[in-house]
Amino acid sequence: MVAARFALLITPAESADEERADFSDSFRSIDPNAPALSVGELSTQRGDGIFESIGVVDGHAQEVEAHLQRLAHSAALCDLPTPHREQWRQATAIAAAECGPGEWVIKLILSRGVEKGPAPTAWTTAAPAADFEKPRTQGIRVVTLDRGYDSGAAERSPWLLLGAKTLSYAVNMAALREAHRRGADDAIFTTTDGVVLEAPTASLILRLGDRFVTPAPRGGILQGTTQISVFAHLEAEGFETAYQTVPTADLARADAAWLVSSLRLAAPISAIDETVLSVDTAFTAGLNAYLLAPRD
Ligand code: PLP
Repeated sequence: MVAARFALLITPAESADEERADFSDSFRSIDPNAPALSVGELSTQRGDGIFESIGVVDGHAQEVEAHLQRLAHSAALCDLPTPHREQWRQATAIAAAECGPGEWVIKLILSRGVEKGPAPTAWTTAAPAADFEKPRTQGIRVVTLDRGYDSGAAERSPWLLLGAKTLSYAVNMAALREAHRRGADDAIFTTTDGVVLEAPTASLILRLGDRFVTPAPRGGILQGTTQISVFAHLEAEGFETAYQTVPTADLARADAAWLVSSLRLAAPISAIDETVLSVDTAFTAGLNAYLLAPRD
């Protein structure tokens, strides 16, 4: 992870309905390398908050609306105040203006704030993105890992916050380390009753014949902005796309597969567990060219 080059503290609007066109006096640019948060911050003590990572290409922040929509969805799931759309849009635009050429990442973070404090804490950062050239072009090996719950868990136990992009990514990072221990680059989570979910930091898209399929986002997974964008692109190209329940056993019969997310874009999968998958280099290059072009 490259250190942030820019950071902006945000005083969240009191209400998402606040009628205001200019939020500039609610932003304070701070030194991204200096300490900025209180030690009582619940984001650091409990991972109690939500975030978004937005890809920026040559200064253009990609799919900002989709990310703001998901931020609001995560806030609702976590009982956090609804983020003021216009305020966060302006904060994102300020951060995007600080990004240099090439690929960068803007993070939007909304924390529950300081314990017993008056308000949530919010901030945004901008940093150069990690280099994903190799996974995009050479492909990645993945292993399936049991997520430890069944496909009814999200509905049965909403307090698990499945489907929210919370700051609690320790489990996701542990899964990536386990994948690395098993000699793979990444992981695909499955449920205890044999249904495919997603990767720890990406959505999964499978090609089954001429159809492109992704696991139905019924709450057990985080719906990816990149997956939605890729599906729109594929449909415009005349391909059929579908959200459906994917049994774990079906992974072995995929004709091709990709992990997709805002920063890696589309990484073709060359193997899932013991099954080798063919990588369509030209098709994947087309997907990544689309994902690198300005998208709103
Ligand atoms: N699923 C999980 C668990 C993620 O963490 C991410 C991104 O970080 C995604 C899916 C893909 O989301 P997006 O395409 O919006 O980056």
